[in-house]
Amino acid sequence: MGARITRRDFLNGVALTAGAVIIPAIIPPEMWAAAAADLQSEAQDVPGYYPPARTGLRGDHSGSFETMHKVRDGAFWDDAPKAVDTGEAYDLVIVGGGISGLAAAHYFRQSAGAKARILILENHDDFGGHAKRNEFRTGNRTILGFGGTFSIESPSPYSPVAKALIDELGIDVPSYPKYVSKDLYRSLGLKPRIFFDKETFGTDKLVANALGAGGDESGLSDQSGEADLRDFLQEAPLSEKAKLDFQRLLTEKKDYFPGLTSDEKKARLARVSYAEYLTGTVGVSGEIVKLFQALPHPLYGVGIDAVPAQDAWGFDMPGFSGLKLDPTPGKGMNRDSIRTPEGEKYFFHFPDGNASIARLLVRKLIPAAIPGSSATDVVLAKADYSKLDQPSSATRIRLNSTVVKVNHRGDPASAKEVEVSYFTGKKLNTVRAAHCILACWHVVIPYIAQELPDAQKEALASSQKVPLLYNNVLVRNWSAFQKLGARAIYSPGMYHSSVNLDLPVSIGGYECTKKPDEPIVVHMMKAACKPGRPAREQHRLGRIQLYTTTFETYERNIREQLARMLGPGGFDPARDILEITVNRWPHGYAYQYNSLFDPFWLEGGETPCQIARKPFGRLAIANADAGAYAYTDCAIDQAYRAVQELKK
Ligand SMILES: Cc1cc2nc3c(=O)[nH]c(=O)nc-3n(C[C@H](O)[C@H](O)[C@H](O)COP(=O)(O)OP(=O)(O)OC[C@H]3O[C@@H](n4cnc5c(N)ncnc54)[C@H](O)[C@@H]3O)c2cc1C
Repeated sequence: MGARITRRDFLNGVALTAGAVIIPAIIPPEMWAAAAADLQSEAQDVPGYYPPARTGLRGDHSGSFETMHKVRDGAFWDDAPKAVDTGEAYDLVIVGGGISGLAAAHYFRQSAGAKARILILENHDDFGGHAKRNEFRTGNRTILGFGGTFSIESPSPYSPVAKALIDELGIDVPSYPKYVSKDLYRSLGLKPRIFFDKETFGTDKLVANALGAGGDESGLSDQSGEADLRDFLQEAPLSEKAKLDFQRLLTEKKDYFPGLTSDEKKARLARVSYAEYLTGTVGVSGEIVKLFQALPHPLYGVGIDAVPAQDAWGFDMPGFSGLKLDPTPGKGMNRDSIRTPEGEKYFFHFPDGNASIARLLVRKLIPAAIPGSSATDVVLAKADYSKLDQPSSATRIRLNSTVVKVNHRGDPASAKEVEVSYFTGKKLNTVRAAHCILACWHVVIPYIAQELPDAQKEALASSQKVPLLYNNVLVRNWSAFQKLGARAIYSPGMYHSSVNLDLPVSIGGYECTKKPDEPIVVHMMKAACKPGRPAREQHRLGRIQLYTTTFETYERNIREQLARMLGPGGFDPARDILEITVNRWPHGYAYQYNSLFDPFWLEGGETPCQIARKPFGRLAIANADAGAYAYTDCAIDQAYRAVQELKK
């Protein structure tokens, strides 16, 4: 059962309704005070300012979101300091320093010339957005991890525009096999495994993986086979009925919808969740549903209760072989489930994930900030944050700066300038620009660009992000993984649904860990969701959960889970965990449309993201949200489109 859903290694829905843009408060007001204490205006040009080396609570770290939440809740302007005009004027101000914002700066420079004055304003202490670099130090060694975006990959092929940028940055995607030690883990007997937990399955047990789950398509040669299936059936703490159901699911070739055409069957599958299909149509035991529940977490951020059966078919999940469906993608399939051979082949993983892309873009925009000249030497290059916001540089990146207002100076139809106000935690500053690209999350835009038409604001607000947790744990060694023969563990009932040893990639002088007695980064992923509810509701509740969980609780969950899974292999969290970086992403993946919850996605017509991304006066709108597609290529494509719109 070659379920391809786990590609992103560790790795949406209420229909748009008419009415006001209302996003309920998710941080109780009493938490603001505590958060505000953390909110400091950080100077990015002081010696030692180096966010990638920060551990603890990262991702959407304290200080990055509180201002915007106050703006959302209507509380910011009550006690905002008086705005100060910095006197700065730019050709372009970009809101958001993620890959879309950085790429927009690049495309604007391409068309307006290297002297074009550009300011990128970013509310986090680092650039890159979801493409986040985590660095650890142990002894005299630096170990890298990805705090967000894992790799260059996309189910569909990169567009010519996105591919051209990857080429221009010098990334030779086909050369990837040269850098990955694809046989390392297999040669040491390590494979993907499944952890059954006692709360869900009655006992804690690590067993062979017959699902292909917890594996990946990043070039490692250890896909599950016949022996894994045999071992799984022997070892799994499932009832005999569940085991029989499991085998039946893999082998049965029954047409559950006799008399329907392939299109009619797909239309039916598009309207039922995979969980309902498994229980109601195929008739398998609830134990199988529990086992499969978290399989889509890495891609959808929700479980099989909120993933359409048609999408599950697209992923080669079992239960469809007797339906004899026409292989062309059905109407309403999520783009994640329409996988193309060309898309599958285009894969590249840097040790810090796509933070390397962000860093290469920054190097192009501000060469002094990141030394070096190649796409491989960037891996070890140390960024000089003091160079990011220099008056002498045409492009400037200003961190720790939350944009709270963007408006035209005069009638948007004829104005020659926009004014952008941002808050640093202490000061409210304004700058002027001939143009502004909003490359930030779409849910933010209605609050800061209030001039936009109501229908557009409504469409922007519908783009709920998918909440995710990407935890990096530096451990003293990985001998417990070796003893247990595990390199990737799918744990459907646990807090984190996947636990993975780092992908062994050595590049640009960076050497991955190759011996089990050496330290390594263990990546633990959680999709914060509430099964049984519509996807957008699950995302909203998951977001609250991630914002309100303390680091201490995250840490306890990490320690407990590793102890339970790896304890039988001799792992002792107190002794073996050296550092923890929790990358909390309450606003994670861009929302991708889902046929269960987004009727327009089945019915056709203009989608919310098409309405949301329309240019307005001197404003253009980028970000991956503008394509409703949670991939790096989308962030690039949308940046390119936004810049082209400014030229019109
Ligand atoms: C955990 C995770 C893993 C992923 N893995 C992959 C992967 O393996 N491969 C892949 O192709 N894609 C992956 N993606 C998706 C990919 O990361 C995104 O599509 C892409 O990086 C988005 O870039 P962006 O610039 O559009 O948005 P972002 O990276 O979110 O950048 C937008 C920036 O705007 C900032 N901002 C928001 N409001 C304001 C404000 N008011 N003022 C100033 N700044 C503001 C945000 O803080 C953010 O930094 C992943 C995403 C996540 C969350």
